[in-house]
Amino acid sequence: MRVKVRVTGIIQGVGFRPFIYRIALKNDLKGYVRNMGDAGVEILLEGEEDAINNFLRDLKNEKPPLAQIHEILTTTLEGEHEYTDFRIVRSSEETELSGSVIPPDVAICNECLKELRDERNPRYDYFFITCTDCGPRFTVIERLPYDRENTTMRDFPMCSFCQSEYADPSNRRFHAQTVACPKCGPRAYLTTNTGEELSCNDPIREAGRLISEGFIVAVKGYGGFHVAASTLKDEPLIRLRRAKHRWQKPFAIMARSLEAVKSFAEVTPKEAELLTSYTRPIVLLKKSAGYYLSELVAPGLHNVGVMLPYTGLHYMLFDSVSDPAFVMTSANPPNQPIVKDDDEALKTLGGIVDYFLFHNRRIAHRCDDSVMRVHDEKQVFIRRSRGYAPAPVMLREKASKCVLALGGELNNTACILNSNKAFISQHVGDVENVETREFLRNATEHLAHLTNSKVEVVACDLHPKFTTTKLAQELATKNGWQLIQVQHHFAHVAALMAEHGVDEIVGVCCDGYGYGINGEAWGGEIIFASRRSSEIKRVAHLEEQPMVGGDLATRYPLRMAAGILHKRLNVEDWLMQNKRFFPHGESEVCLILQQLGKERSIIKTTSCGRVLDAAAAVLGLCYERTYEGEPAMKLESAAISGKDVLQLKPITEGDVLETTDMLLEIFEKRDKCALADLAFSAHAYLAKGLAELAVEKALEKGVKTVGFSGGVACNELFTKLMRETVEAAGLRFLVHEAVPPGDGGLSFGQAVYAGFFHF
Ligand code: ZN
Ligand code: ZN
Ligand code: FE
Repeated sequence: MRVKVRVTGIIQGVGFRPFIYRIALKNDLKGYVRNMGDAGVEILLEGEEDAINNFLRDLKNEKPPLAQIHEILTTTLEGEHEYTDFRIVRSSEETELSGSVIPPDVAICNECLKELRDERNPRYDYFFITCTDCGPRFTVIERLPYDRENTTMRDFPMCSFCQSEYADPSNRRFHAQTVACPKCGPRAYLTTNTGEELSCNDPIREAGRLISEGFIVAVKGYGGFHVAASTLKDEPLIRLRRAKHRWQKPFAIMARSLEAVKSFAEVTPKEAELLTSYTRPIVLLKKSAGYYLSELVAPGLHNVGVMLPYTGLHYMLFDSVSDPAFVMTSANPPNQPIVKDDDEALKTLGGIVDYFLFHNRRIAHRCDDSVMRVHDEKQVFIRRSRGYAPAPVMLREKASKCVLALGGELNNTACILNSNKAFISQHVGDVENVETREFLRNATEHLAHLTNSKVEVVACDLHPKFTTTKLAQELATKNGWQLIQVQHHFAHVAALMAEHGVDEIVGVCCDGYGYGINGEAWGGEIIFASRRSSEIKRVAHLEEQPMVGGDLATRYPLRMAAGILHKRLNVEDWLMQNKRFFPHGESEVCLILQQLGKERSIIKTTSCGRVLDAAAAVLGLCYERTYEGEPAMKLESAAISGKDVLQLKPITEGDVLETTDMLLEIFEKRDKCALADLAFSAHAYLAKGLAELAVEKALEKGVKTVGFSGGVACNELFTKLMRETVEAAGLRFLVHEAVPPGDGGLSFGQAVYAGFFHF
């Protein structure tokens, strides 16, 4: 019998062909296996029918750990047997099927880590040791099929030792494309901040020592540069913060080991599992009571973002120092993507760092670290990037059209919906300028190419001025694609529905800002969506609040607070007492008071984020938002140790949850109650109030499911309080697990909205 088998999924770069080779031999089959240009694999089998059936069973049951099989298509062929053995043959450029993709980067495996430390091993101390089970993939692959000559490893021809392992079917590195050793592979070297190479025998450990001593070192990794510094010394962190004009934004850190993490943070079993998983994300962990790292790592927050080393190089950085962790923040100039090229690094980071630790392998595609949080044993993505992109989110149904979605503006990603798979790009960042726009465009083209997708529809936000909206319009015109614009919060809720495969939902969607159906500033919305009745609409929302000075009210939350409180009392004295927190002091306060007098001309917002910001300002937790979410994050951090002292009853008028009296209560009790308790009460009021309103709408419509989406859903306390209320009412409560609740998940929501939902 002769059979041709086509497999799709994540099957290139995961040791799949060696695996096929082994099970073919085991079942006494002849033929070949080869990689295809569409990221899939083709197998030709000749032999007994039983043997072929056994082979197909082994294929499903014994696949390599990193492989994901989406489809297996078998066709029986006519003709005589042609093969006398089974072999891995030259890859084909042919692209026939779509929907396969190459794997994300994978952290160094335990076998490789053992060899790295084994003096007798030829790859002892080799910082880029990898095998078929580990190493970079997404960040080194330039084109398909996944062969060494199509990756940035092509600059490093294998030596005879590596070649012999590569060609040996019994070896772990059989057909491992990133195989390398000290003799033939990339090398690491240390330079000054102007790029002059320093002669030293052990540049990586030397870099570790320099970081420990208080120098700032840019470290080139898999998907871009990190800026590394001590976590124990304030001086380099002050210097770094000054140079980056980044006074408050938390820095991610890399800890030497899980034990070291436990010395300064609380780690639950689920968090430990994520930290040590092969995706190695940054996990936000609660600082422990004895937290002893510099306060400048994550100022004003109860948690700190920690990851474990994921390359040999990272492990070696800690070898000759005793530091528990280093700051490892991704190196990106303001509003620019993470730096990936050496020249670019010298140019943009030279003024910030003292040294560079380079390696001489090019980075094909940049990829930031992923960031996660754990709420109640469940993972929540803050950012889904390295270790995850470009692996697809699998859906329960197939889209009839292939959709490209470009997302929103901040924390952006792109998404390609192809049949029942949603491929989400790596983190792109804030798409506001030429550089990020080009990054988005490249990331999108690469993703379409990798997945062999033929786009027919392009989806984007409703905001007419977003760069992504304009790009979508351009692409639609140029390629003759259908353009679908999706309202921001509808996209968030659609994402939740698709992720969980539900047809009807009342979704609470809370974030900072989204362009409403008629151009309003939305951000605290309750949305009813039903695929049965083909409708999606806003059914309730937070009270509209004035944004004194428009965008300035986002930057300076005291303005937001003043606008709200002004409805009930005279805020003049209070603002004057706090005038030092306004960049222009007294004259700015006077201007604000003047504007408050003409309230009707001020833009209004229903944003939940802005109300949380206002509460943070009233409580003195944050007067200037220097990074996205800062005031609200500090409010959550303050609330963690609090209780609901105020026990405020939600005030709703019709379909509107009021927020003015809540803020007024907090304002009036600010000197009488504990800060933590007031911060908690603000959360409780909003979370319970919105949940009750959502429950009411769900019961009215006969819907059994309430969901929570938008950036505020990254807030653990808010989510927990909402869950309690919804579940107490006997309804199902859904949150995101596969995509970020914030705008990193927006492109996914737009894609499924355009691909599945016909509202
Ligand atoms: Zn390995
Ligand atoms: Zn070698
Ligand atoms: Fe949003």
